[in-house]
Parts: sequence; C-alpha cells; structure tokens
Amino acid sequence: MTLTPSPTRSLPDMAIYERRESKVRSYARSMPRLFNRAEGVWMYDENGGRYLDFLSGCSTLNYGHNHPLLKQALIDYITADGITHGLDLHTKAKGEFLNTFETLILKPRGLDYRAMFTGPTGTNAVEAALKLARKITGREKVIAFTNGFHGMTLGALACTGNEGKRMGAGVPLNHVSHEPYDGYYGPEVNTADLLEQRLSDPSSGLDKPAAIILETLQGEGGLNVASPEWLRQIAEIAKRHGALLIVDDIQAGCGRTGGFFSFEEAGLKPDIVTLAKSLSGMGLPFALTLFSPELDQWSPGEHNGTFRGNNHAFVTATAALKHFWTDDAFEKDVARRGDYLAKRLDAMATEHGLDTRGRGMMRGLDMKTAEAARRVTKASFERGLIIETSGAHDEIVKVLAPLVIDDDVLVVGLDIVEACVRLALAPPFVVAAD
Ligand SMILES: *Cc1c(COP(=O)(O)O)cnc(C)c1O
Repeated sequence: MTLTPSPTRSLPDMAIYERRESKVRSYARSMPRLFNRAEGVWMYDENGGRYLDFLSGCSTLNYGHNHPLLKQALIDYITADGITHGLDLHTKAKGEFLNTFETLILKPRGLDYRAMFTGPTGTNAVEAALKLARKITGREKVIAFTNGFHGMTLGALACTGNEGKRMGAGVPLNHVSHEPYDGYYGPEVNTADLLEQRLSDPSSGLDKPAAIILETLQGEGGLNVASPEWLRQIAEIAKRHGALLIVDDIQAGCGRTGGFFSFEEAGLKPDIVTLAKSLSGMGLPFALTLFSPELDQWSPGEHNGTFRGNNHAFVTATAALKHFWTDDAFEKDVARRGDYLAKRLDAMATEHGLDTRGRGMMRGLDMKTAEAARRVTKASFERGLIIETSGAHDEIVKVLAPLVIDDDVLVVGLDIVEACVRLALAPPFVVAAD
C-alpha cells in the first residue's frame, strides 16, 4: 500500500480559485490540490496523487467515500426516476428511511422520538431545536458550554464558544450563557455542581433556561470528553429546572464513538437530539432534529425550508442503516479500532510528554501549541495523509479516520502521524512546557 502525494512542484494551476472563489475558503488552503476522485478511505488528485483521508469531511464520511452499496442504491433510485425534490411531501424514500430508522435505531435503544426534517445542514437542525425549546418553555435563555460548537447561523452561533467564529456575526449574540464544560477547571472541579448552584440561587443572575445544549464529546472544541456521570448530572439539572436537554450529536453521532448515538454510553434520553454530518452515509446534505412526541408542538410550516428532507440522502441513509446497523458487529469493530487508536496516541503522548483527548474513533493528540499541531498536519499532508486540527487554539491534532478503515491501513496512517509528531517536536522545534 503506497501513499503517493503529488509533489508540490507539479501543482496544477490554481488561478481560477484565486480569481473567483471567495477568501472564506479554508481547508483548500492547507491542502492545495485538485481532488477529482475518492473511494473508501482514499482521495485522489489530478496529478495522480493518492491520499489517506483522516479527516472524513469532519466525520461526514464515517463509512468512507462512495461506499459501493450506498452508491448503488442511489444509482438505482436515480435510474428509476425516483423523486429528487419533493419539499416535505411524503415520498417512498422518506417512508423507508423513517421505517428503517424506527426499526434499527430507535426501537432497539428504547427511544421514542418524532423526526423533524429541517434544512439539510447541521446548523439548521440546531436552529430548529433552539426554537422548539424556547417555544415550549416560553423562556429565552439557553445554556451552552465553553468550547462548544453548534453551527454558524445566528442562533447556533450564539451557542458556539469560539471567538473567531462568533465575531463573524456582526450583531450581538444574545440569550445564551456559556457555562464551564466538564473538566474546564481541571479534574478537581465538578462544573455540574457549579451550574446547579447558580441555577438554584435566585440571586445568581442566571435566568432559568429554555434548554441546555451540549456535545457529549466536543468535536471542533478540542475533543473534550464529558464523563457519563457529568452528563447524567446535567440531564437531572435540566429536568429539575424545567429546561430541555439538547444533545448535539451532529459530529459525535452516527457511530463515531461506537454507538449510533454518542450518549448511549451514559444512558441518557435527551429531550431533543440533532443529527447531520454522517447521517446520509455518503456525504449528502441531510439533517434531522429528533424530539420526544409530547414536545411536537409545532404548527405546520412554523419552521420550514425548501430542502427539507433530501430524498437522495434518504436512500443512502436507509442503505447505510441496513448495512451497518442491523446488529452490533459494526459497533464492536469501531470500539476495537478506537482502542487501537487510543493505544497508539497514548504511546505518542508518553514519548513526548503530551496529552491525548477523545473517545471511540474520535481522538487526538494535544500538541500544546497551534504551531506544533500545524507542523504535524503539514508534514502529514506532504506524506499523503489528510489530517486536521481542532481546539480553542487549533492545538489538537484530530484523527477522524473513516470508521470502516482496514486495520492495516489504520496502522499505516498512524505510523505517519507518529513520524510527523517526532519531526514536529525535533529540535529546534521544541513545544513550550505548560
Ligand atoms: C458540524 C457541526 C455543526 C454544524 O453543522 P453544519 O452542517 O456545518 O451546519 C453543529 N454541531 C456540531 C457538533 C458540529 O460538529
């Protein structure tokens, strides 16, 4: 197996992008290639370069690129002139998705949710969740957490911690209080106790919230993991204070941490759940807001959009559920690979005095500085490995390999990461001691 990145000197002409594409582009800057094909865990460029994908569209491609069964299901559907766009009309594809989701995901987990098809991006699923919580409780305030990421439209952005992203809004981002996430003040401080104290104190200045929104494992915020105990305590706090618990499972869900939902381990039954990213299974835009039936107090069209429910995504999502989620074999495979990933990252951390982060197949290495992390991702890309950073300071090298990756390919990718971490920290590039 060879990784054959195309050499920098043979880079194709990028003038059209410089000339016509907005400066807002970001990933394209650190990976300046013309990608033209992708299959499984591999991406290819115009110059014959071949790259191993440890980014997976930020966990949108958990089953890899163009999975043959999903692709075939979509080709068959299109060939038979299946409905492509139908607003929110009942379609056969939608019905099959709902039936499959009910049978393979909800029922075996004892979950009873209504499914709301929002606009196809994750941020729209979050907007719908926030609107619903505010409508039902009649309260304005939402509690979100430090380092949380929930999307880029105003409501979701208000729940996002990152300053650079928040600054883009250009208007005040109101009605959200950012409380310390699990471990924010170190392992000694239980931040759920702090939240409870503030919410039970009529003079704390913290208004009763409509909702508490959280990720069980913060994707963009640096792979911070909340403990099952902390999550359960937050769920109790939400209940006690009449707030709805929203779990944003857009990045950590769809198998990334092992279970279909990332909150299964903690035994939570959130009032509202958001899904997107890997839900379609093939990288097609598709988002879903799930909530308990008694919360389904929408009036028709109260939150709508032209692209509610993407029929092509229904087809691929159904095929993905039927292929990967009929029994627990896939889950066990992800857990096994996740353990191996943890072992390899732990060894790197021990070698260099660093820390690891994450859970399941969503883990990373805290390089302490953005500079060191960037050296790792840059050197990796030069060797044919696509990998990115996350965290408040972009200091975490984040491994988001496709969940279907073969063991021997995972080894090859992690060998590259290991070598590049050594390079990044080799003198004179010493990490600052903390
Ligand atoms: C990516 C992400 C979102 C936003 O999804 P988009 O499709 O980019 O709008 C929201 N929440 C979490 C946890 C995410 O990782």
